[in-house]
Amino acid sequence: MSFDANTIRDEFPILSMEANEHPLVYLDNAATTQKPQVVLDALITYYTTSNANVHRGAHYLSDRATAQFEHARDRVAQFLNAPENSYVIWTKGTTEAINQVAHGLEWCIAPDDEILITSLEHHANLVPWQQLAFRTGARLRVLPLTSKGEWEPEYAHYFNEHTRIFACTQISNAIGVKTPLKDMLAAAKAVGAFTLVDGAQAVAHYEVDVTELDCDFYAFSGHKMYGPTGIGALYGKAHALDVLTPLQTGGEMVSHVTYNSTEFNTLPYRLEAGTPNIEGVIGLSTACDFLASQDREDMLIWEQKLARYVYDELKFNNDIEIYSPATDTTVVSLSVPGIHTLDLNGYLDSQGVAVRAGSHCAHPLMAQLGVSSTLRASFACYNTLSEARRFCDVLLEAIEILG
Ligand code: PLP
Repeated sequence: MSFDANTIRDEFPILSMEANEHPLVYLDNAATTQKPQVVLDALITYYTTSNANVHRGAHYLSDRATAQFEHARDRVAQFLNAPENSYVIWTKGTTEAINQVAHGLEWCIAPDDEILITSLEHHANLVPWQQLAFRTGARLRVLPLTSKGEWEPEYAHYFNEHTRIFACTQISNAIGVKTPLKDMLAAAKAVGAFTLVDGAQAVAHYEVDVTELDCDFYAFSGHKMYGPTGIGALYGKAHALDVLTPLQTGGEMVSHVTYNSTEFNTLPYRLEAGTPNIEGVIGLSTACDFLASQDREDMLIWEQKLARYVYDELKFNNDIEIYSPATDTTVVSLSVPGIHTLDLNGYLDSQGVAVRAGSHCAHPLMAQLGVSSTLRASFACYNTLSEARRFCDVLLEAIEILG
């Protein structure tokens, strides 16, 4: 199997669009990816051949929808290399998955406890823990990681007998650096903490193996891996999911209800109240098929090559400060001191180039970098070298005009 970006591009109808009278160059993939035709078809096919509520009806369409819905759970479990499909809980995305865990573990957090995150987190993996700490009196601690994703040995004491939860991103969305996940998870496990990995930025690029990672929880979003928006999953080990208080209560998650009591359903349904996002689940499962049909290794090499090209083109330019690593990333995050990133973004947009300017939902990380925002180009499998070149050319033009 070999990977070719130009061939794969044809599978994404939106990429042939123009934006502001220029060919669209979509480099905002860390925010959300575009969707291949197979995923779009899966959504239409579901609504035209199988639409019904799942688990409830005893009729042909309901059986069809339920079979596809539960097949999708098997598919996602396989995608993550989870040992059981009941360890996959549907959520709206990474944010809801993390909130489910933060809410679900509240009962076991005491004022003496510590909740540990790193300095590279998206707000989605910070605010829920901060609020949990506020509610329980526990202490939120932040393990300092450098912008190169390094962890200094002097910080080993951050993992201690008080650490109840350790939550960490696999890859920083703002600067694209990988965290030293294996070492940190080992340190967290050694002190008996629950461990959660925010995989939002990893799933599109890396083959995730939750069994090998051996974390208690893994959260991700479908829309960042060529699937639909509004669907994601929380993977958890049985013992970890078992102790979570449901974030929501209502139908589906119960087995018997009286006015005085409720008997909850078994996993995974206990944590899935209400009618789920059935078409989203089916679209996500199709996105897993799409990724599995690619040469993932070659795909990643290609995406990293594009980021490296941009890095190398810009690294000697004295006007530009780059915050992403030179290698092992699919992101180039930068600033141009003296020019606001929103102005750069505006010029790039006027030329059809879509990137992201801002704080990337990572205010504390921006403070660590000493900036209020960066301009981020993030690559996906369908991007080409000529798009990477166009980004550099238009950025340099913008600096010339705005500087
Ligand atoms: N974590 C990381 C690292 C992210 O990049 C994002 C989204 O950008 C999230 C969490 C939140 O994902 P969602 O908005 O899909 O819930």
